[in-house]
Amino acid sequence: MPHDALVSRTTLITRDAADPLARFRDLFHMPDDLIYLDGNSLGPLPKRTVERMQQVVQDEWGRLLIRGWTACDWINAPSRIGGKIARLIGAHPDEVICADSTSVNLFKTLAAALALKPGRHVILSTPDNFPTDLYMAQGLIRHLGGVHELRLVDGERIEDHLNDQVAVLLLTHVNYKTGRMYDLAHLTQRAHACGALTLWDLAHSTGAVPMDLNGAEVDFAVGCGYKYLNGGPGAPAYLFVARRWQPVFSQPLSGWMGHATPFAFDPVYEPAPGIGRYLCGTPPILSMAALECGIDLLLDADMQQIRAKSLALTDLFIQLVEMRCAGYGLELMTPRDHAIRGSQVSFRHPQGYALMQALIAAGVIGDFRAPDIVRFGFAPLYLRFVDVWDAVDRMLHILEARAWDREEFRQVKQVT
Ligand SMILES: *Cc1c(COP(=O)(O)O)cnc(C)c1O
Repeated sequence: MPHDALVSRTTLITRDAADPLARFRDLFHMPDDLIYLDGNSLGPLPKRTVERMQQVVQDEWGRLLIRGWTACDWINAPSRIGGKIARLIGAHPDEVICADSTSVNLFKTLAAALALKPGRHVILSTPDNFPTDLYMAQGLIRHLGGVHELRLVDGERIEDHLNDQVAVLLLTHVNYKTGRMYDLAHLTQRAHACGALTLWDLAHSTGAVPMDLNGAEVDFAVGCGYKYLNGGPGAPAYLFVARRWQPVFSQPLSGWMGHATPFAFDPVYEPAPGIGRYLCGTPPILSMAALECGIDLLLDADMQQIRAKSLALTDLFIQLVEMRCAGYGLELMTPRDHAIRGSQVSFRHPQGYALMQALIAAGVIGDFRAPDIVRFGFAPLYLRFVDVWDAVDRMLHILEARAWDREEFRQVKQVT
């Protein structure tokens, strides 16, 4: 969107009326007067989820008990939901499975990837990667006897560090702090050119950015269920393994649900033939039922429309903050270039923590990331253009009145 000084609350209401995704907002529970800019941390509750939870608890668990595994096809929830996620990320249905947390899935896929490259010992990543990804890699390295090295290099120069020592390039597609997005296809191709495998963390892009994992020939990926998929707090995550790598290796968490025949109760582990071997224990059916509602909503929308609106919302937010809140110490961290921007906008502010607390008190929910970042996520399914105006309006009032400058807004909470 061009820099448009004529933008006003009224023009944005007109813009909302023409929005092809407008009908989705009413499918979510959204408290009145709240502007929710944190769907990249925890997506809101779809109305359908409430009904579905009632049904799965009362009718399925309550009435059918153990028969639900077959009668309600609980047993195939991980592959069925995986197949739906596949449509959002450009994968085949049999390449994705819904299971565990992102952290655990990262462990399983990273272990599988390393085992495919026995002669190489480097996991290449960046120091600003999401910490759990680095922690899981560190734990796996210790577990494997310390022969591998986690090499952390500046993301802007990552290509210079791809060489014949690198077993796996481990990157998060959209950076959680800055919203910067890597060129997934290009880096995957560069990694392959030097004989390395790729493992992408798609936590901040699934459901927000269209992706074509197979078009890019990605090897492994993991992603999160409770952010843009709106699956609920602690929702199950997913993992992707390209068909060509599925039969080659078994992941190390060889639980019975990943066995070829779990109900044969064989004392010897034999992995399931396909993506099923990436399961470990019994799937959390209630959580999966909630997640599936969130995914079904997204599948009803068009990912290209989602991306177009996401960029329009983030452009508008940047424009309005810079126009209306100039001179208050906010410094943009998110790239202006669409090609390298995810679906969030982050600013630095010297009083970032207190500013975000004051915003939350004023009904604008974003979040804070240490040391000084205020972060705003824009989920196109339920956000309106007028919400962007109102959020900036409330921020301007807080900045003008120094309303953040209160003791209660400096008390750092356990979850930020
Ligand atoms: C949110 C997020 C995770 C979360 O991992 P959990 O195991 O669900 O806690 C992992 N990686 C990235 C990049 C994230 O943004």
